[in-house]
Amino acid sequence: MRVSKGIRNTLLIFSTSLVIIVISGLIVFYPVFRMFNQSEVIQYDPELAILIGGGNSIVLNSSDGETSLIVDTKMGPASKKILSRVTGKKVVLINTHLHPDHTGGNKYFPDAEVIAGRFSPDEWEQEMGSLPYPDHTINPGSEKVIPIGRERVIIRNMGQAHSQQDCVVFLKNRRFLITGDLLFEGIHPVLFNTISSSIKWRAALETLMDEFPVETVLPGHGPLATPESIRSMIRYFQDVEKVLAGTEIQKTMVLKYSHLRKIPFVSGFGRTLRFMRFEAAQREAGRF
Ligand SMILES: [Zn+2]
Repeated sequence: MRVSKGIRNTLLIFSTSLVIIVISGLIVFYPVFRMFNQSEVIQYDPELAILIGGGNSIVLNSSDGETSLIVDTKMGPASKKILSRVTGKKVVLINTHLHPDHTGGNKYFPDAEVIAGRFSPDEWEQEMGSLPYPDHTINPGSEKVIPIGRERVIIRNMGQAHSQQDCVVFLKNRRFLITGDLLFEGIHPVLFNTISSSIKWRAALETLMDEFPVETVLPGHGPLATPESIRSMIRYFQDVEKVLAGTEIQKTMVLKYSHLRKIPFVSGFGRTLRFMRFEAAQREAGRF
């Protein structure tokens, strides 16, 4: 069968475009896929393992072998790495918030004692499906203190910020703070219309700086950090605010934060700016 030159050229253009689209897609999305599915384990000390990747997690095993504390359970294959780190007879599992990149592995710990924010049973079911309602819930603004071996673990519900309720976990003796998604290290923060609040988020970060004597910080996403990262994120929100108020030029600020990674279609300087503009309009309309 003879194919005309015109059809041949059309097919060539079509297949070349397809290849370009697939390669571009891989270039854009593969780093994000890796970010959510990889898992690197850091044995911080004999009892504490830190699992970077996905939503970051920790496993703290008490030295008497009685209890293991897990904070957040990642999603997909990365969740299984947590299983191999748990050695205690009893498992206590804290979910900093209910997003799937932090709760996907809860199903591997059906007998764990679960601690989370004070969600209504409906809200819980909507996000967590058939997984049982937590054994202990913490009201926004309140905290719960539990011993895990020699460590005193403080769980505080910081209220609405990145999500409806975000909890942080402070390992007091180690001065080690697990922020959940209150801190994105090296990445633009993720804000969701109608769910997040940049104003409350910034206030929560300021409270963390004022009330917790922190040395080391495990962010929700990105590598291990220090309190300076929390200060940087406060400044980030302040800088976006300045662009909104017209006292800073957007281009200058985009350049200032060009070292931060974006999550395609989810986070970036422009997206944060749009969110905060939306939030300001909502406030003006009396919706907050
Ligand atoms: Zn997350």
